Amino acid sequence: MIQIGCHLSSSKGFLHMGREAVSIGAATFQFFTRNPRGSKAKPIDEKDVAAYLAFARENGIGTIVAHAPYTLNPASADPKVREFARITLADDLKRMEYLPGNVYNFHPGSHVGQGVEKGIEEIAETLNEILWPEQQTTVLLETMAGKGTEIGSRFEELAGIIERVELQNKIGVCLDTCHVYDAGYDIVQNLDGVLEEFDRIIGLKRLKAIHVNDSKNPFQSHKDRHEKIGDGFIGFETLQSVVHHPKLQGRPFCLETPNELDGYAKEIRMLRGMR
Ligand code: FE
Ligand code: FE
Ligand code: ZN
Repeated sequence: MIQIGCHLSSSKGFLHMGREAVSIGAATFQFFTRNPRGSKAKPIDEKDVAAYLAFARENGIGTIVAHAPYTLNPASADPKVREFARITLADDLKRMEYLPGNVYNFHPGSHVGQGVEKGIEEIAETLNEILWPEQQTTVLLETMAGKGTEIGSRFEELAGIIERVELQNKIGVCLDTCHVYDAGYDIVQNLDGVLEEFDRIIGLKRLKAIHVNDSKNPFQSHKDRHEKIGDGFIGFETLQSVVHHPKLQGRPFCLETPNELDGYAKEIRMLRGMR
C-alpha cells in the first residue's frame, strides 16, 4: 500500500496524531518538532511515545516525517543565528531517538547575501557538528522553491551539501512537488525527466520522503505557496502520477496542502485512486 499521509498538529501528542492519521486513511504523517517559528520544545512524554509506537505497529503506520521549525537558518552570515539553528537541530535529533528509524526534514537555509557556496559550507558544517554515528534518524534536506536567497532550489546545491557531510548514511533529501515546480523543474510536462535529473545529480537512493502539494503559482515562480490537490498549476493528474510512480514507492508521501482533516481525507482517497 502507498504510504501516504499529511501534516498533522503535534499539540496533542503522538498517539493522537497516529489515531488521526488512521482515521483519514493515512499510513504516515508529518509533524513539527516544536512550534514552526522555533520556540522551546515540550518535553517528550515517554508514555505517549510508547503508546504511539504500539498503535503504529498495529495499524500499519510506516516511516513518519518530523519537520524542523522553518525559521532556522544554518546558512546565515550571523554566527548567533547559525548557533541557534545548530542547537535546535541537535536537540530535535536527540528527541528523535525516542522514535527510532524515522526521518527529520529541515529547510537548508538562506545565504542572505554571503553567496550560495558559503551557505552550502555553513550548512554542511552544522550537519557535521550535530550528526553522530549511532543516531537512528536520517536527516533530510528539503528541495526549496528558491524564494529570496534560499539554498536548495537546484539539485546541484543539495548535492553540494551532501558531498561535504561526513556521515553519509545519515543524510537524505525530501522532494516537495510545489517547491521543485516553483524552482523550475517541470514535473507537469516531464516528471520522468525530473526524476532522472534528480537521480543523476543527487541519486534517488537519497530520496527518503516526498511532500505532495499543488502550487498557487505557475512554473518557475519561486513563490512557495501551496494549493489544494487539483486546484493549482500542477494539477491532480501529475500529483497522482507522483504518488503512484514506480521509482518512488516505499517512501512516505505527505500532503502539506491548506486543509483540515476532512479535506486531507478526501485528497488521500483521490490520490490513492479510490473515487
Ligand atoms: Fe518544509
Ligand atoms: Fe514541503
Ligand atoms: Zn512550502
